[in-house]
Amino acid sequence: MGDPRGFLKVRSRRELAERPVAERIKDWLDVHAESGLQPWTQEQAARCMDCGTPFCMTGCPLGNLIPEFNDLVRQGQWEDAYNRLSATNNFPEVTGRICPALCEAACVLGIHQPPTMIKLDEQTIIDQAWNLDYVKPMPPQRLTDQTVAVVGSGPSGLACAQQLTRAGHTVVVYERDDAIGGLMRYGIPNFKLDKSLLDRRVEQMEAEGTRFETNVEIGKDISWDDLRSRYDAVVVAIGSTVPRDMNLPGRDLKGIHFAMEFLPDATRRVWGKKPVHDITAKGKNVIIIGGGDTGSDCLGTSIRQGAKSVTVLQIMGQEPTERPDSQPWPTFARLYQKTSSMEEGGTYIYSTDSMEYLGDTTDEKDVHVLNDTTAEGFVANDKGHITGLKIVKVAPGENGPFTRQAGTERVLPADLVLISVGFLHPDTSTLVDQLPVELDRRGNVARNADFATSQDGVFACGDAGRGQSLVVWAISEGRSCAAAVDRYLTGSTELPAPIVASQRPMALPR
Ligand SMILES: Cc1cc2nc3c(=O)[nH]c(=O)nc-3n(C[C@H](O)[C@H](O)[C@H](O)COP(=O)(O)OP(=O)(O)OC[C@H]3O[C@@H](n4cnc5c(N)ncnc54)[C@H](O)[C@@H]3O)c2cc1C
Ligand code: SF4
Repeated sequence: MGDPRGFLKVRSRRELAERPVAERIKDWLDVHAESGLQPWTQEQAARCMDCGTPFCMTGCPLGNLIPEFNDLVRQGQWEDAYNRLSATNNFPEVTGRICPALCEAACVLGIHQPPTMIKLDEQTIIDQAWNLDYVKPMPPQRLTDQTVAVVGSGPSGLACAQQLTRAGHTVVVYERDDAIGGLMRYGIPNFKLDKSLLDRRVEQMEAEGTRFETNVEIGKDISWDDLRSRYDAVVVAIGSTVPRDMNLPGRDLKGIHFAMEFLPDATRRVWGKKPVHDITAKGKNVIIIGGGDTGSDCLGTSIRQGAKSVTVLQIMGQEPTERPDSQPWPTFARLYQKTSSMEEGGTYIYSTDSMEYLGDTTDEKDVHVLNDTTAEGFVANDKGHITGLKIVKVAPGENGPFTRQAGTERVLPADLVLISVGFLHPDTSTLVDQLPVELDRRGNVARNADFATSQDGVFACGDAGRGQSLVVWAISEGRSCAAAVDRYLTGSTELPAPIVASQRPMALPR
């Protein structure tokens, strides 16, 4: 039972302090100045009202036992808190840092006060657990003779692999990249999620018996049908990696890249690895098309690389700061939130569409100088390379989502354009050729409620089946998929299944 008057004694939320902008943009370390247990952590946890109906838990796709662990944080019972947290979440050190906290949007206290600090409690518990040496490998007591291949080492593949290994199956995770973690490794920048947190977790999984094979692309190095014949079950956890393009006139100019060509190289450089595309924002006028989380990550990365200017374009208007009537509590409302990268610099331009990529088309090189920012007066200085982007204001349209506003066109100077408008579906080209699973109408791997694809013994979880989503959904899918695979292999399961494959949240994000 929590402190029934806690929320009356402490009415405001307290977040971890961030490092000064001028300091943190010079490095790639966590933006926060504080981490772990703080003198105020327990009184913040006491704000949890221990509601009879904990709506926060319906917000969390993992079904985290939120009021229980909040109260254990209040009491400083770290081992119990860790046991409750790890019963539902394989990687709380990740969600505790980068989850958008769907739970907090559903917190009952949030109706009339700032919601409880659920996400930070999660982070504090797991940080305390590692510090106090409570996190131990949990190898199975006995092995089954069943084998499982998990393809893809993002949060869904890893959660699935950890659950199946602990259930006694022999599990191998195949990853085409040179390191484990999927988008947690090479998508989300280091200043938001320190990669050493992943290494520590991979070590735990190895000690439990999970095997990892990096630099192996299934479909190329091993065919999908060969893999299926070698294992009793196969889990497709390949993410949703095919980017949505912005096919405007001038798309073939140099200097236009997808966000996921740009971001991984930044992380590779931080960890002393060779970049693949070798794109840098240093000294450039950068335009990021797309104002979501990935766009924000491109912004923080460009600033750290020393961009001359960074502009982020968003087709939607700026989000409201208060819940609109159409997104009532306890749904996850799309509200304006200043990310740490937005605090660091750059300019956001809202309600704006892109029209054309501009570049030099003359034979002479380096003769023109960018001297105007109007569409008519615009000239460029680098043949074959992007030098500007023509944009236009939009308004909500009568015949479509947006209408371009005639007369509002203008040109922004650009040396690097990063396209960050989402992902279409997983890259299934070799999969459907070699092990023809059915796809859904969006191009995701189709599965039934139990994560089974149309091929016997082949399951799919995470963004590969759900479409582009969140880490918390990926972990939840991985856990449920593991339960389905275990049942397929042994006829029954005791593994938890927090969601069914078709489950959608109460509201965005999916
Ligand atoms: C830039 C960026 C920032 C994000 N930030 C956040 C955030 O702050 N919070 C949040 O909750 N979510 C965030 N997300 C979304 C989140 O990262 C994803 O929803 C989540 O990682 C999906 O997990 P997954 O396991 O399904 O796939 P992924 O993480 O995409 O992992 C799939 C893995 O499969 C591998 N793979 C693919 N094909 C093969 C093959 N044939 N053989 C072998 N390996 C293969 C890939 O290399 C990859 O490592 C972000 C996404 C991006 C792009
Ligand atoms: S995983 Fe996300 S939604 Fe679930 S409790 Fe943690 S912060 Fe909240």
